[in-house]
Amino acid sequence: MLSVRLLNTEYKTQKGPAVRAAQDVSFEVPKGKFFTLLGPSGCGKTTTLRSIAGLERPTSGDIEVSGRVVYSSRNGVFVPPNKRNFGMVFQSYAIWPHMTVFANAAFPLEVRKNRPSKQQIRDKVMSVLSAVALDHLADRDATKLSGGQQQRLALARALVMEPELLLLDEPLSNLDAKLRDRMRFELKRIQRDNGITTIYVTHDQGEALALSHEIAVMNEGKVVQIGPPRDIYDRPKTKFVADFIGTTNFIEGQVQGRDDSTQRWRIHTAIGDILVKSDAPFSAGSKAAISIRPEDVELSERPFTADAASNVFGGTADTTVFLGDFVDVQVKVGQAMLQSRSHPSLRASDGAALHVRIDPEKCIAIADDSGVRAG
Ligand code: ATP
Repeated sequence: MLSVRLLNTEYKTQKGPAVRAAQDVSFEVPKGKFFTLLGPSGCGKTTTLRSIAGLERPTSGDIEVSGRVVYSSRNGVFVPPNKRNFGMVFQSYAIWPHMTVFANAAFPLEVRKNRPSKQQIRDKVMSVLSAVALDHLADRDATKLSGGQQQRLALARALVMEPELLLLDEPLSNLDAKLRDRMRFELKRIQRDNGITTIYVTHDQGEALALSHEIAVMNEGKVVQIGPPRDIYDRPKTKFVADFIGTTNFIEGQVQGRDDSTQRWRIHTAIGDILVKSDAPFSAGSKAAISIRPEDVELSERPFTADAASNVFGGTADTTVFLGDFVDVQVKVGQAMLQSRSHPSLRASDGAALHVRIDPEKCIAIADDSGVRAG
């Protein structure tokens, strides 16, 4: 279990105030889980990871791994990085040239103070190389590996020390798109099979959703929401999270009141009145923003059955983009433009009249003034 409590890390600057790169960052990662720090460039992900590794010295906070304090400002504890027993793989991982795959993976064991026996090293290295599917290439010159294989070797080198924590900073970003997709699966498998607690840094929301047990979304040095991928995607608490975690339509509106027949809030917007399921203590007249994912904007050439409990509108296809496994349509509804992601069976040419349906359960109401999701 990793526990990070109220971590603050600053960078001094020559002129002006210090950069507060991590501000009161707190989270806990149970043993064996895959935890991701996700956010835009400059939000403090790498700083947080480097602080956990001991490569940055925080200004305050506590970091504990399996009950062992590695940093505490209160007690003046700072365990140096080489004593923390964490494995690290960074974006610019370095493979040592003029060395075989085996020698690269064995290196961390060879330089250990209490070096294991030759046989122990051989067994351990072959077992991690087999975990990353490189055992058949053990004798190859490491520079003669593909990008993805080198990446796996960097991972093997981190795993060979049996670290308590595996820290990964955008390890897939140097790979081409196809290889990155494959490595995602491999990384997930390796992490699962080794049961190793992993902290992963990325700005790629797809990667975070695909790999993580839990995600901490960061913005401007702070953690703004923590939760399992599905929660973060379906129940974003702020406009920032809703927007960052995927494409979304935002519609501003004014709360009209609660619809007694459907038990739903009626919100007046530029596309018409929208019914929204929400437990929020809205009051008539207050402002609200509604977030609707493109895949939740249903389109049809034929009318939907009129149903008092759902949101049905008329619209016009503005721009249609066929993408093979789906079709993206920008549809004009009332005074607003909505982005829809539909099944490719939808045949909508630009300018065609369309029927639009939005399930009230799929509308996320965010109280507009505070930026915090209302319910
Ligand atoms: P990226 O995805 O671009 O790597 P990040 O979310 O990992 O970004 P950090 O690298 O942690 O963000 O940077 C957080 C803030 O701290 C940024 O404003 C950055 O400019 C600043 N920063 C990072 N390293 C230093 C440094 N060595 N000296 C001064 N400021 C720094």
